[in-house]
Amino acid sequence: MIQPQMPETKHWSFTRDVENIGWLTINTPGPVNTLSREAIMELEALVSRFEELGQSGEIVGVVLLSGKDSGFIAGADVSEFDAMSDFSVLPEALKRTHALFERIENLKIPMVAGIHGFCLGGGLELALACHYRIAVNDDKTRIGFPEVNLGIFPGFGGTGRSIRQAGPVDAMQIMLTGRMLRPGAARGMNLVDKLVRHRDMLRWEGRKAVLTHKRSSEAPLVKRLMAMGPMKSYVAGKMREQAAKKARREHYPAPYALIDLFESHGDDWRAMIRGEVDAFVPLMGSPTATNLRRVFFLSEGLKKQGIKGPKFARVHVIGAGVMGGDIAAWCALRGMSVTLQDLDMARIQPALDRAKKLFRKRLKKRHQVDAAVMRLEADPTGRGVARADVVIEAVVEKLEVKQTIFSELEGKLKPGAIMATNTSSIELERIAEALKEPARLIGLHFFNPVAQLPLVEVIRSTFNSDEEIGRGAAFALAIGKSPVVVKSAPGFLVNRVLMPYMLGAVERAERGESKELLDAAAVAFGMPMGPIELMDTVGLDVGKSVATELGHPVPEGSKFAQLIASGKLGRKTGEGFYKWVDGKAQKGETPAHADLAGLGRELVKPLVDTTEVVVNEGVVANADLADIGVILGTGFAPFLGGPLKARKDGRA
Ligand code: NAD
Repeated sequence: MIQPQMPETKHWSFTRDVENIGWLTINTPGPVNTLSREAIMELEALVSRFEELGQSGEIVGVVLLSGKDSGFIAGADVSEFDAMSDFSVLPEALKRTHALFERIENLKIPMVAGIHGFCLGGGLELALACHYRIAVNDDKTRIGFPEVNLGIFPGFGGTGRSIRQAGPVDAMQIMLTGRMLRPGAARGMNLVDKLVRHRDMLRWEGRKAVLTHKRSSEAPLVKRLMAMGPMKSYVAGKMREQAAKKARREHYPAPYALIDLFESHGDDWRAMIRGEVDAFVPLMGSPTATNLRRVFFLSEGLKKQGIKGPKFARVHVIGAGVMGGDIAAWCALRGMSVTLQDLDMARIQPALDRAKKLFRKRLKKRHQVDAAVMRLEADPTGRGVARADVVIEAVVEKLEVKQTIFSELEGKLKPGAIMATNTSSIELERIAEALKEPARLIGLHFFNPVAQLPLVEVIRSTFNSDEEIGRGAAFALAIGKSPVVVKSAPGFLVNRVLMPYMLGAVERAERGESKELLDAAAVAFGMPMGPIELMDTVGLDVGKSVATELGHPVPEGSKFAQLIASGKLGRKTGEGFYKWVDGKAQKGETPAHADLAGLGRELVKPLVDTTEVVVNEGVVANADLADIGVILGTGFAPFLGGPLKARKDGRA
């Protein structure tokens, strides 16, 4: 069969079959498909040929598929954003892509997208410009617009086209939250038209869609009503209220700019697309977007750590308390077989009950929940140790107890198995002293609550080699956490930088400043929660022991000491500095203050100062790792790019 003459392309390949269906495959360099400038320019040339070949009847339609197992298209090429030194060229570049997608939409022949795996951002925008979308209905397919996480919103016409397909409320919701949809939900929102069971079926369904000229229909009128007449401003107002609960406009302008765009054009999807470029460009070069890209690349960089090779199928956790129980549950959730040990069954059962709740929340299907429950096994006698690829100790914070446990463990472990402690404050060298092979012991320091906090500090003692640390990092990645390697030094990274900040605020509150004001100021600066509320959340007893370890003992007779003495340990006991009801701190009035963010900056200063010290002492390898570690471990304002970046920019 003679193939039509096509332009030379690096990112795409094209063949025509006997039925004159064109098969366009995207396969860009790198592990995932991205829409770089070059890929888009090549697509322009291809689309010109589709126009000609469609006109002459040489092709009857085009099916776009991905050549990669990893998925369809993960989005625009974010690395190009930073390389773009001159943002004045951006409007032209965007308009060119807009014109291209419009030409796809106006093709006389059908163009069908066959989606598997990730279909995100620019990838979804391209799919939405096609006439019909088919997606694989499996666990790997994810469809969405994660742009807000990078401080922008869809810029290739996705704002208007998603509204056209899903109606204004659903479309705005997914753009504002960056939520990734499973295939069923995407179908329910009319972002895809047809689901198939396997990737192999995409070709067959794509062929059928071309031959029967399938075209997706727009959202029905009842959905579009929400953007019509006075409803539009009302809906925009509600969206602003929701957005304000999550982030401030001065910190994260993108959601607000998108809502403004919606308020102007939400009732006319084409006008929305036309308005997109002007609203988008100022966001792209903003400090927030620049810093969020930095955070994105730093987190991606963490994924490149770890050594290749080790497989982690079985985990044994010793200590079924707050941390051990939750670490065990998390590992089981992530597919590992886990044995959980404590002194007796009565101490393990609460952890199993908690785990079940987590599985129910995170896993949608009953059989998946049941399978996870089966993977997590109570093991009061420690039978699991000999088979485990990873053993994590999370018992009480007492040196002698930990030493005894590891001395007994040492001889029982499989060769090459990871032997780790979750200690928060005991130097690893002291625990390892009692061992025959002290080099085997590493720290894997998780954060509470384990299911929510992504960071794991991989603690390196003076005995460890790169091999043990590399394994530890690989394990953290295998359970979907972000590892940052930290030297065994009091407080490691996160507790070390948090403590002076939290204690500083506690001291000010003890001297009579309003705790509500202090907390509000830290939030105005960009912290996710104020320092007093954070102390209550961590637990005053835990805070006290970390403070003591770091050489800041809680003064006798202080309010802090009194609260602990009377069992008021914070959120977990229902009262600490605040009273807590249904998991919420009961706050009084916040006094007025002329410069709330300035006060917040003052409060955060000890955190930033300490981060500098920690880098200078070599506790973390460099400033970038310190920044990402502090962001992931404390929630430090991502829009500032991390404490050290913020200081460099004169913002902290
Ligand atoms: P916890 O008191 O809730 O749990 C400790 C568990 O260890 C208890 O269930 C206890 O019965 C069990 N245990 C004690 N001796 C044992 C033994 N010989 N064999 C088996 N089990 C034994 O404590 P936690 O808060 O989960 O802390 C555990 C570890 O994690 C500590 O080293 C702590 O420093 C560290 N850590 C705690 C947090 C936190 O926020 N709580 C955060 C990070 C790290």
